[in-house]
Amino acid sequence: MMPGYKEQKYDVAIVGAGMVGISCALWLQRSGKSVCIIDRLPPGESTASGSSCTFADYACIPINSPSLPFQAPGMILRKDSPLAIKWNYIHRMLPWLAQFLANCRPHKVTHIIDALAVILSHAESGLMPLIEDAYATDLIKRRGCLYLYNTAKGYEAARPDIRTRQERGVSLHEISAGEIYDMEPNLEHLFHRGVYFDKAFQFLFPGKLIKRLTAHFVTQGGTFISGNVSEIESSEAENIGIIYGDKTIRADKAVIAAGAHALDLLPWLSGKMPLDTERGYHIMLAGSKTGLNRPVGWAEKGFYMTPLVNQIRIAGTVELGGLQGNYTEQLLSYLEKTAKQALPGLGARESSWLGFRPSMPDALPVIGPSPRDKNIILAFGHQHVGLTLGGITGKIVASLIGGEPTPFDISPYCPQRFQ
Ligand SMILES: Cc1cc2nc3c(=O)[nH]c(=O)nc-3n(C[C@H](O)[C@H](O)[C@H](O)COP(=O)(O)OP(=O)(O)OC[C@H]3O[C@@H](n4cnc5c(N)ncnc54)[C@H](O)[C@@H]3O)c2cc1C
Repeated sequence: MMPGYKEQKYDVAIVGAGMVGISCALWLQRSGKSVCIIDRLPPGESTASGSSCTFADYACIPINSPSLPFQAPGMILRKDSPLAIKWNYIHRMLPWLAQFLANCRPHKVTHIIDALAVILSHAESGLMPLIEDAYATDLIKRRGCLYLYNTAKGYEAARPDIRTRQERGVSLHEISAGEIYDMEPNLEHLFHRGVYFDKAFQFLFPGKLIKRLTAHFVTQGGTFISGNVSEIESSEAENIGIIYGDKTIRADKAVIAAGAHALDLLPWLSGKMPLDTERGYHIMLAGSKTGLNRPVGWAEKGFYMTPLVNQIRIAGTVELGGLQGNYTEQLLSYLEKTAKQALPGLGARESSWLGFRPSMPDALPVIGPSPRDKNIILAFGHQHVGLTLGGITGKIVASLIGGEPTPFDISPYCPQRFQ
């Protein structure tokens, strides 16, 4: 028997203990449910652990945009670009790409921005109670985030998006080159203008945070099971069966928070639910002499530079290439070479990482009951902002399962939008 396994039926079983799954577990536990969470990885090793570490409540501008279909081909063909494709996978992604392009039309983009802005505006209220309960406030640092532009053209092109964020209530300050270097004196003087998001913050170690949240969940009576789930039995019988190895967990409700792997467990949604992945990379560079005070995004280059202890993490890029396959050295070199233009004192590359953003073609998460079985709740597809949105997703899922009103209208995120 696996450690932690108890022969009992739970109110709720959750598959996936990433930021989304553990947040669902904690909110459900707070609402009085008996909860079990199962993951094949140890706590803290999910996608968030390699992220850019930003609480990005300003991130309501999706990658979808009316101009992207015209810019993307050139970006893909360039060697020094944060966008890449694995050509041997792309035929499998055609339905996703077709829907992605359809979601680049102006009225669709406006809908996405509105829907992202609403859920992001509730992100902090979904996350902080969990962090405070778990005594984990030492794992966040409130010094805002910077988003910088090295060309006047890049900045001018971004102005409509900056206005859009302001109109949606994002707190930001447009700053001059002088102000940038006052805030980040170690940056090379190549930036023209920037935006300071003062309410954003940094997760110091997202993996450690998830570990701490999981430990708190267990201390409060929750069950963590280590196992690879192979099947979800529907609730047509008395309750739901979550099968892993030769064991079955029984629960009244199941939450599928398995990130980019969620469809492996939901074969009946295959072809109907366009979940795929935007692969993203990070490299860790020795950086003790080249400190930054906060995460710094370089807008034109598509990555963040985030200070961690004695190292700087350079994280970002989008590679369309599925869940298999090797690292693309070209993207790692691109991150290293370009980051060293901004921070020439950076040292050697100490490690590299590849992670799988769970992404829907309309850049919105999927949160709500499965179209086939109302007792199976879907909670995935948080693309570039799952670390930020995990907490509020958990709060929504707990309201749905508790039969209570959700904190706001969640229809833009409902699974049925793809049926
Ligand atoms: C380079 C990069 C930078 C990023 N930076 C940021 C950022 O700064 N801020 C931000 O908000 N977001 C960021 N993100 C996005 C964020 O990391 C993801 O959206 C988020 O981590 C997704 O969380 P999740 O819980 O849905 O999925 P995951 O973190 O992928 O967790 C899913 C879990 O399910 C488990 N699982 C899957 N299938 C099974 C199975 N069959 N049986 C058992 N367990 C299973 C997996 O082991 C995994 O632990 C970034 C992503 C990348 C790649």
